[in-house]
Amino acid sequence: MKVTFPHLGPAHLALVTLFTDLGLEPVAPPPTTRRTIALGVRHAPEFACFPLKVNLGNYLEALAAGAEAIFMVGGVGPCRLGYYAQVQQTILRRLGLDLPMIVFEPPQRRWAEFWRAIRRVLPPKRLVGLPGALFFAYRKLAAIDELAVLVNRLRPRTLRPLALQRLWEEGQKALGACTEMRSLKRVLSSFKADLVAIPRLEEGYPLRMELAGEIYMVLEPAVNFELERRLGEKGVEVIRHLYLSRWLGEQFRRCLGLDASHHRDRELAWPYLAHPVGGHGLQSVARAVEAGVNRLDGMVHLAPFTCMPEIVAGGVLPVVREDLGLPILHLNLDEHTAEAGVLTRLEAFLDLAARRYNCRLVAMEGHRVERVFSRG
Ligand code: SF4
Repeated sequence: MKVTFPHLGPAHLALVTLFTDLGLEPVAPPPTTRRTIALGVRHAPEFACFPLKVNLGNYLEALAAGAEAIFMVGGVGPCRLGYYAQVQQTILRRLGLDLPMIVFEPPQRRWAEFWRAIRRVLPPKRLVGLPGALFFAYRKLAAIDELAVLVNRLRPRTLRPLALQRLWEEGQKALGACTEMRSLKRVLSSFKADLVAIPRLEEGYPLRMELAGEIYMVLEPAVNFELERRLGEKGVEVIRHLYLSRWLGEQFRRCLGLDASHHRDRELAWPYLAHPVGGHGLQSVARAVEAGVNRLDGMVHLAPFTCMPEIVAGGVLPVVREDLGLPILHLNLDEHTAEAGVLTRLEAFLDLAARRYNCRLVAMEGHRVERVFSRG
């Protein structure tokens, strides 16, 4: 069976491995472009979440490439992700595309349903290989994320941003092509060594900023105008807590009752938001509090237009900003957002954050320190 799935950052690299190992035929959608977005927007309801529209565009492009079934995750809690798959399936049916949609609901509450979904797509003889295939796909994702953390640290300090970007892209492809654990480890260390060997600036301190918000907007560079890369190339060290492998690990541990990260986030957010509001709303508030307490230089908060959890978080963040003195740039993105507008706001925000940073240094050290950001 030829299975496709929506794009979400580096997820396609792990999903191709997973489906191949399980004897299915993965059809990764072409990379998300303006055409993909336009396709999704044409057929989705106007006020649907922006990620739903982009996912729909991914499906339509993958179906044109021969996909016969769609893999999608479900959701629980007060967020529209819970019925994404059903809405998308109805839209596809109306377009005359009646395909099976394999929806994996988070198993926290319904293990039997989760197991039934697996049995539906996998022949019994493949079930035995499932844990190994899942583990390897997860390790691959974790390796890509480990490289991403390093790239985020090096980008504001590098003297050769183009070489670094090229190496990062090659690293993702090479890790994606690995077929066994030993080669995965070898490729990861080799790319880490190559990245570290790229010449760096000897002086200057980069701004340090949190990138947080709704998971799809944070992880998918095609819809967030590659903000992570742009921030790094302007001399900002991006601190990101939302990595796909980390998030999956947390979900898995939570199913087993072993994850404490959401308790920590609840404690951090508590003075401002006492209850989870779905999606990553509470986590966005927790990240802002953490960034303020850790004296980061700012936070960029990404939300799709009409995203309920991030609207709630966005209402609380100005209070965090006032209390903790943390500059926050809130960006609502959708199909109507123009790249030039986002970049102009980003430039202005970085300029203000840089001035604030310099004032603080002057106050602390009595002199002005030349900053890496000034080269942006
Ligand atoms: S988090 Fe926001 S954008 Fe994502 S599914 Fe929920 S409501 Fe939609």
